[in-house]
Amino acid sequence: MTDTTAPHEAPWRSTACILCAVNCGIEVRVEGRELAKIRGDRKHPGSLGYTCEKAFRLDHYQSGPHRLTTPLRRRADGTFEAIDWDTAITEVAARLAAVRDAHGGESIFYYGGGGQGNHLGGGHGAGLRAALGSVFTSNALAQEKTGEFWVDGQLFGRPRCHTSGDFEHAEVAVFVGKNPWQSHGFPRARVVLKALAADPERALIVIDPRRTETAAMADFHLQVKPGTDAWCLSALLAVLVEEDLVDHAWIDAHTRGFDALATHLKRIPIAAHCAVAGLDEALVRAVARRIGRAKSVSIFEDLGIQQNVNSTLDSYLEKLVYLLTGNFAKRGAMNIHSRFSRVSGGGGRGERRTPVTGERIITGLIPAAVIPDEILTDHPKRFRAMIVESANPAHSLPDSARMREALDALDCVVVIDVALTETARHAHYVLPAASQYEKWEAAFFNLEFPHNTFQLRPPLLEPLAGTLPEPEIHRRLVRALGAYTDEDLADLRAAAALGRGEFAMALMGAMAERPHLTQYAALVLYETLGPTLGAGREATAAVWGLAQTCFMAYPEAVQRAGHESGDALYEAIMAHPEGVTFTVDAYDETLRRLDTPDKRVNLAVPELLEALDALPAAPPPRDPQYPFVLAAGERRTSTANTIFRDPAWRKKDTHGALRVSPDDAARLGVADGGRVRVTTRRGHVEAVVEVSDTMLAGHVSLPNGLGLAHGDDPNVTLGAAPNELTSTTDRDPIAGTPWHKHVAARVEAL
Ligand code: SF4
Repeated sequence: MTDTTAPHEAPWRSTACILCAVNCGIEVRVEGRELAKIRGDRKHPGSLGYTCEKAFRLDHYQSGPHRLTTPLRRRADGTFEAIDWDTAITEVAARLAAVRDAHGGESIFYYGGGGQGNHLGGGHGAGLRAALGSVFTSNALAQEKTGEFWVDGQLFGRPRCHTSGDFEHAEVAVFVGKNPWQSHGFPRARVVLKALAADPERALIVIDPRRTETAAMADFHLQVKPGTDAWCLSALLAVLVEEDLVDHAWIDAHTRGFDALATHLKRIPIAAHCAVAGLDEALVRAVARRIGRAKSVSIFEDLGIQQNVNSTLDSYLEKLVYLLTGNFAKRGAMNIHSRFSRVSGGGGRGERRTPVTGERIITGLIPAAVIPDEILTDHPKRFRAMIVESANPAHSLPDSARMREALDALDCVVVIDVALTETARHAHYVLPAASQYEKWEAAFFNLEFPHNTFQLRPPLLEPLAGTLPEPEIHRRLVRALGAYTDEDLADLRAAAALGRGEFAMALMGAMAERPHLTQYAALVLYETLGPTLGAGREATAAVWGLAQTCFMAYPEAVQRAGHESGDALYEAIMAHPEGVTFTVDAYDETLRRLDTPDKRVNLAVPELLEALDALPAAPPPRDPQYPFVLAAGERRTSTANTIFRDPAWRKKDTHGALRVSPDDAARLGVADGGRVRVTTRRGHVEAVVEVSDTMLAGHVSLPNGLGLAHGDDPNVTLGAAPNELTSTTDRDPIAGTPWHKHVAARVEAL
C-alpha cells in the first residue's frame, strides 16, 4: 500500500479496533496523546481494510474524561482516596491473603480478564489466581456463549470444538438471532452480506423477530414471535426429515444417533410449531428446501437466541440444521477452527459445579446469573472476595441492583480497569490500568477457518501517568504474595540472556524441577525472557510461549501458514504489527478435531431431546401484568458495550430509544421522541420512544451500553441501563445463561 504520509505528518501505525470481537485492523495517526486520524488497515490479513463507522471514534475511549490516573482506596464513608502504587499493591495483597488464609483461596472469585480486545493482561492474571488459590472464574461468555459451548461438547466431544461459518463462500447463509450488519461477528460482515444479497445463485436467511438491517436484505425472513425460535427451528428440522432433505451418506459416514434423533423429529407437529412461532408453514418449508438443496450452508447463532428462552435447546437445533444437511468439514460450511489461545477456562470432560448453588460450570466459567447467589448467602463456601479485571459486572450482568448488593457484601473487592466503572464504585481498591493503546496487547478471539489470524499490537502511546499495564500489576501482586523468588528464576534469566533456544531448553527443565512455577507461566516468562525482548515488551514473552503451544497443537496448519516452528511464528508476529495468518486449515482437519471416542458427531443428546419433546403445542402464556417482551441490550450503530463511556461519541440515538411497533405506539398514545416508563419484575426505567416498523407488536427493545455514569456524579447517566430491568432467575436451565432478550415488561406513556 502506498504511504501517503507527508513529511510533517505523524506516520500511520497499525493497531486494532477494540469495540467488538472481530477486532478489525486499523491504522492510526497519533498527535500528542490523541488518536487523531483512523482508517482501516488494508494490510490486516483478516479485515483487509474494512471497518464499520465505530472505529473512527476510538479517541473517545483513549482520551475520554473517564481515565483514572492513580490507585484508589475506599474510605469508610464510601468515598475514594488516592494512594500510591506501593501502598496499593501491599494493601491489596494483604487483604486478599487474609481472605485466603481465613476462608481458603476458593472463596476469592475472579471475573473478567479482558474485553473485546485485551486478553494479554488476563492471561497474566492466572498467576495471581494461583498465588491466592483462587479456582472459580467467570466472564461475559458465561451469559452469552456457554450454552453453545455445552452443546459443542455434547455433539463434538468437548466444548473447545467450536465451529465457525464460511459466509464468504457459503451458497446459503443463515443468521439466527443475529444481525451481522450491526453486531458483525465475522470479518468484513457488511461486504459479505452485500455480496450474498446481490447474488441470485445464493441465499440469505434470517430468523429474527425484528426486521433487522440484515433481515431487510434477506431472501427469506422467518420473523418469529419473540422467544419461539425453538418451535421454528424444530419445525425446520422436521421438514428436513419429512421431505428427506437430509444428507444420508454424510450422516452414515460421520455421525451416530441419527435414528434416535429422527424418531423425535418425526413426532414434531410441523403446522402447530409454525403457528406457535407465528410463521407461514409454506415459508418454513421453502426455507428447509433451500437449505437442504444447497451445496454449502453456513449458520451463525448469536445472542438473540443465546440470551433467550430455550437457549441451549436452540443451539442444539441450530447445529442439527447444518449437521443433518452435511454442511460440516467443507468449504462454505461449518468447521472447527484452530485457536491461538483460549479465552475461557478450558473444556475438560469432567463436570464441575458451583460451590453454593451447584450450577453447571461450563468451560471453567461460573454462570454469570448465579454470581450474586454465590455471595449473598451464609453458606460456608460462599465467595468472600472478588477480583474484577477489565469487566463491569455491576452494569453488564442481569439484575444490577442485586449485583451491587453482592459486591457490597464482600470482604474485599479489587477492580483493575481504566475507569471508575459502575463496578469499581463498589470496590475497596481500584487499580488504574493503561489503555489498550498504551501497551502491547492482543485479542484471543481467533475464530476463523481456514485462514485464522492473530495480531499483537504494539503500544501507540506511553502509559498515561499513574497507570500500569495489567501484566505489571499482576507481577507486583504475585511478588507481594511471595509466590516465587528471584532464586527460582535465576537459571531462566541466565538462559534467556544466551538466546531463545537456550531459554526454551532451560524452561522445560525448570518446569520439571520446580512444577509450582507452571501455574505462574506467563509471569515467569514476563520476568525472565521478557527483559531480553526490549524495554516495555515483557508481556510479549507470553506470546512467545503461546506461539510454541500453538505450533505443538496445529503443526501442519501453522506450517501451511508459512511458519516452520513456534519460534518462527513468534518472529512473524513481532515483525507484523498489522497481524499474521497463523494457521491455514484443511477441511478434513475439522473431522480430525472431533474429540468423540469414535471421531463421529453424536447427534442424539438425551437431555436436549427431552427438552424438545417437552415443547408445548400452544404458545406460552404471557403475564397480563407484563404484556410486552423486552429485548434488553440490542446492538445498534450507536452502541458499543461500555468501552466508550463518553456519550459524546454517539451522534444519533443519543438517549438509546425504546423501539416500539407502530401498533403498540398507537395503543400507548406515544409518538417518536415521546417518553415512556418500562417496568419489569426487577425494576423500572424511563426511555424515549422510537416508533419502528421493524418491530412486531408486543415486542420492544432497548440498546446495550447505555446508562453509564460519565461525569463526577455517578447518579447522572444518559439512557437506560438495561440490566436494571433483567433478572438472575430467568435463565436457561442447562447453561444458566440469562434471558436478556426475553424480559416480561410493561410499557406506559409518561
Ligand atoms: S466491525 Fe467491530 S472491530 Fe470492526 S470496526 Fe466495527 S466495531 Fe470495530
